[in-house]
Amino acid sequence: MIKRSFFGLPKPRLEYKALPDKLPEPEEISCSGNVTLLLSTFPEQTDRTLSVKEGDKIKTGQKLFFTNDDAYIISSITGTVSSISSFTGDFGASYTAVSINISDYEEVDEQFELYTKTPSLDTARDFLACVPGNLPINLLINPEKPIKTIVISGCDNDLMVYTNQYIIKSDIDSIKSGIGILKNITGADDIIIVLPLGFKHEFGDIGARVSTVDTAYPAASPHLIMQNILGRIVPAEKSFEDLGVCFMTAEAAASVGRAFTSGKIPVKKTITVINKDETVKLAVAEIGTPVRDILSTLGITLNEKDRVILGGPMTGTAVYSDEHPIMPDTSAIMIQDSGNIPHVSDYPCINCGDCIRICPARIPISMLVRLLEAGQYEEAADQYDLYSCIECGLCSLVCVSKIPIFQYIKLAKYELGRMSIAEAPDDYSGGDDE
Ligand code: SF4
Ligand code: SF4
Repeated sequence: MIKRSFFGLPKPRLEYKALPDKLPEPEEISCSGNVTLLLSTFPEQTDRTLSVKEGDKIKTGQKLFFTNDDAYIISSITGTVSSISSFTGDFGASYTAVSINISDYEEVDEQFELYTKTPSLDTARDFLACVPGNLPINLLINPEKPIKTIVISGCDNDLMVYTNQYIIKSDIDSIKSGIGILKNITGADDIIIVLPLGFKHEFGDIGARVSTVDTAYPAASPHLIMQNILGRIVPAEKSFEDLGVCFMTAEAAASVGRAFTSGKIPVKKTITVINKDETVKLAVAEIGTPVRDILSTLGITLNEKDRVILGGPMTGTAVYSDEHPIMPDTSAIMIQDSGNIPHVSDYPCINCGDCIRICPARIPISMLVRLLEAGQYEEAADQYDLYSCIECGLCSLVCVSKIPIFQYIKLAKYELGRMSIAEAPDDYSGGDDE
């Protein structure tokens, strides 16, 4: 296996933008009828039963789970289960979708509050796995890979996305509480909060080191933060947690702080919404709210063949319906006008080399893509550094043949991940939080 150990950034062409000094007021989205919560059903098991059924009354903050499985979701509203069905996500990921009709009144489940006086990793594992910002709890609780350094990113990985910058500016008190709690419950001796260069703040002492990253895309990517701030390179076959480092978003850290100080599990997600004309707004909605409700509250009309993307312009994923629910890790929604959608083509690679020149990981992409197009994922990983890819999307942006290279890479990693879980021993209980 080739190991790419050094990143060489080409001359920056794309810049992250800073949140304006005058904070935008996020639009509070009211859910029009129901929310849909997605519970992962991989790996498939036949001997498990969902803890609720159609017609059951559900409280806000209530856990919904399968018997014989550690995974769960938290209800973001009070209501009645209206349907339970299967749902297929990105790259064929399978979920059980639980739809809940909203009640006129709210009742909060009190289970979590009983445990909040003494915060612990067990409580975080049992209740906070799907808070806004997607707390990487599986990484924090793995005794085989103890975490020594937690990096809290106040930057947003993609362009035109402001979600984490907004959380840092608007809710630093919750982040500060979250940092104190994370330090206590994980034993991590180093917590670093990373901000975009030039970000103005008056934090004072928040219990974490403060560092900045350049505004040139993709400097806010965890791999480049690891190299430029921690001075460490992650070998292609290793993960951050192998080196004792865990990345999380500022929103996840704020969720931990809010949860333990209020006694309630946070259920409202902050999202950046990028309209067709590239104007940007912020919105706050319950996890599970359909994209449709957010667009209609913001006055955004979706025409036939317009594209809905979850995430930003470089790394987001298109979804086929505006019924798609907001997830704990949905940082942005982007709408592309049907006339502006960059189409992929079936032209072959012409070996122009533009993708290799722009790739921060210097992967031989023109060779890699041939194996990916043929579905030879293991060979792609062994021979052409698939796992060195930091998923910035720059190669797809510059490809003159319009080959969807980035999507091929994500599909290949997903398929290899599925294969390794399927081949793991039966007692496997790990997870891949980002
Ligand atoms: S997405 Fe493309 S350009 Fe970015 S690191 Fe991966 S292969 Fe390189
Ligand atoms: S940019 Fe596209 S056409 Fe050019 S070498 Fe890379 S994959 Fe081939």
